[in-house]
Amino acid sequence: MSRPAIADIHLDHLRHNYQLARRVHGHRVLAALKANAYGHGAVPCAQALSGLADGFGVAAIEEALELRAAGITAPILLLEGFFDASELPLIAQHKLWLTVHHRWQVDALLAAELSQPLHVWLKLDSGMHRVGLDPQEYRAAHAALLASGKVSEMVLMSHFARADELDAEATRQQLALFQQCTEGLSGARSLANSPGLMGWPAAHSDWGRAGIMLYGSTPFPQSHPIANDLKPVMRLSSKVIGVRELAANEPIGYGGATLTSRPSRIGVVALGYADGYPRIARNGTPVAIDGQHSQLLGRVSMDMLTVDLTDLPACGLGSEVELWGPTVRVEQVAASAQTISYEILCNVKRAHFRYHG
Ligand code: PLP
Repeated sequence: MSRPAIADIHLDHLRHNYQLARRVHGHRVLAALKANAYGHGAVPCAQALSGLADGFGVAAIEEALELRAAGITAPILLLEGFFDASELPLIAQHKLWLTVHHRWQVDALLAAELSQPLHVWLKLDSGMHRVGLDPQEYRAAHAALLASGKVSEMVLMSHFARADELDAEATRQQLALFQQCTEGLSGARSLANSPGLMGWPAAHSDWGRAGIMLYGSTPFPQSHPIANDLKPVMRLSSKVIGVRELAANEPIGYGGATLTSRPSRIGVVALGYADGYPRIARNGTPVAIDGQHSQLLGRVSMDMLTVDLTDLPACGLGSEVELWGPTVRVEQVAASAQTISYEILCNVKRAHFRYHG
């Protein structure tokens, strides 16, 4: 028997979520496909969005070239500005759009010999303090690049640190600083990631940059009306491959850290942390077995995990277990693992990927 761990990817849901993002934003939206489309498969996701998405965003040049090799001709932005000066001709050759976020990058671009000018997104550090030009150097960089003839078009961008907090003063300050630093400068604007798109209308501008919401997961810890309309793109599932009857107070799995609280039926599921299920997920993390709610019991192992079948007498060997998808929200698993759905999704590996729609 081959391993029954399966990631079903619903591309029709991806398109639905993209259209929702576009409608909410009211302007162009770049689809973030970095980290293998947050674990969903960059090439199939790009193909599914071709003709629909205004452009794509990736982190690494290799990711962009993989999309170009698959025939994707839409704009592709190197979202995080990872490049060496020596790669600028390659970037121009493949017509990739480039994020520039540091003074050395401005200098490299000014000094580069290019076959054609580049489409540049000039990033301001408006308060996240990770990457981005300082407010004092932003205008000078903008002027130098425009005057150089090395740039065909310029988009003025920044990135939020706390837009997933719906009432963060820090986000209001980032918006104000961006406004102040870009006032009067030529070029389109781009600010909103998924939480910006969904929760901060003041951040809507010429270009949104949507990631997590495209995959059907909400960035907010609390409920949100737009989140209700998102459709999960990935359904991760596997099967029960073993069943055990245990008396009360018996240990389950590594470390014996979990004891049965009652006479129990335990199902062994062929999926573990090597597939991307978080090892740290706690007892009680929801799962759905043949469509019925149940929970994780015991420590997650590399290839297997254990679930409670005690109250599900009709379930047993061969039962289908959803780890996340339409019934168990990936955010619930992320919360149980003290992380965010972004990390959970982009860690998925080894499962058999099946594409639908
Ligand atoms: N813009 C940039 C610069 C990013 O790095 C990312 C992802 O981290 C996004 C947009 C998309 O963010 P989200 O997944 O929150 O929509």
